[in-house]
Amino acid sequence: MFVYMDHTATTPTSPEVLKAMMPYFGENFGNPSSVYSFSRKSRVAIERARAQVANALNADPAEIFFTSSGTEADNWSLKGTFEKGKTSGKTHIITSAIEHHAILHTCEYLHKVEGAEITYLPVDAEGFVSVDDVRNAITDKTALVSVMFANNEVGTIEPVAEIGALCREKGVPFHTDAVQAAAHLKIDVKAMNIDMLSMSAHKMYGPKGVGALYLRKGLRPENFMHGGAQEKGRRASTENIAGIVGFGEAMEILQGRLADDLAVNSARRDRLIAGILERIPHAKLNGATGSHRLPNNVNFSFIGVEGETLLLDLDMKGISASTGSACSSESLDPSHVLMALGLKHEMAHGSLRFTLGRLTDDSQIDYVLDVLPEIVARRRAMSPLWEDYMKSQEGK
Ligand SMILES: *Cc1c(COP(=O)(O)O)cnc(C)c1O
Repeated sequence: MFVYMDHTATTPTSPEVLKAMMPYFGENFGNPSSVYSFSRKSRVAIERARAQVANALNADPAEIFFTSSGTEADNWSLKGTFEKGKTSGKTHIITSAIEHHAILHTCEYLHKVEGAEITYLPVDAEGFVSVDDVRNAITDKTALVSVMFANNEVGTIEPVAEIGALCREKGVPFHTDAVQAAAHLKIDVKAMNIDMLSMSAHKMYGPKGVGALYLRKGLRPENFMHGGAQEKGRRASTENIAGIVGFGEAMEILQGRLADDLAVNSARRDRLIAGILERIPHAKLNGATGSHRLPNNVNFSFIGVEGETLLLDLDMKGISASTGSACSSESLDPSHVLMALGLKHEMAHGSLRFTLGRLTDDSQIDYVLDVLPEIVARRRAMSPLWEDYMKSQEGK
């Protein structure tokens, strides 16, 4: 049995998307910047994709800029806005402690190399940023607020519309990393007062290596990629036409099934959560509950066991899961997200994430519920940490 439960790390490109992309690897290879009529096909394809992405967000097509990834969109918005702002003394960035490394490492860079002051807002035990904390952190030096739409490790959905309204009132640009959220939630950049928003196609059944930045009309962060005049002179480099076409197609398909996917995923998510709580003693659900959690995210800590060990055991049973973020799984540090939620070291190390999606069916939920309790019990039986923990529980 092959059970793929890591849809947050990446998704398979859907067959319809792949089909739409194919001509742009083959006969329609023209460079969109060329003048002859043959290259018009490429230009038309890009503009169609731009409209598809804009429609999904209630944005204007002129506000969508394609990039090479979600990471690039995050880098561009932060570095470009900071560099723009610092000429008028705006050298302060507000973000949260649970952002993706594409944001956190960019902030570290801006601090180290450019002298930016960074405020990392704390989160509560479920992973929520407080709007009051954002309000209190804003000063007349604040160049930008960047708070993610939904967290990739624990699935917590942040109060983005409230933060957006606050930033608009204060006149501070507001960026949100919506790479995960855009795959599951309806986003309206106008209603939510979002100024900049990052997305990535491979997290929503599109191809890898293509992302987009929504930039509200009138905002002009400095460019990130310098070179040719592509993307209205705002993002140089010959367009990844097949990738962009795939992104647009994936985004349009997603909009048509958003409500159904939400219902199906949440039901499966809740069944998996309830089953784990019922069958595995001392299991702790990380993150928020109900509608404030991404519909496909299940994240648990099992005291007494290493998440990494569980991953290998699960892999032996054909199950692909994660300990949190794919990007940090090579380091042995516990997840910065779980630490920010206030978990103790040993709990943060014992975490396991299952993320559901189009490859998931009900029988796979049953299968995981079947094999996981045994795996956790077997590992705990060999674990000195577990023994200590049980002793500490005696008499409680
Ligand atoms: C995956 C991810 C990114 C990075 O996107 P890439 O296109 O893989 O560079 C950024 N932010 C979040 C929240 C993500 O999940």
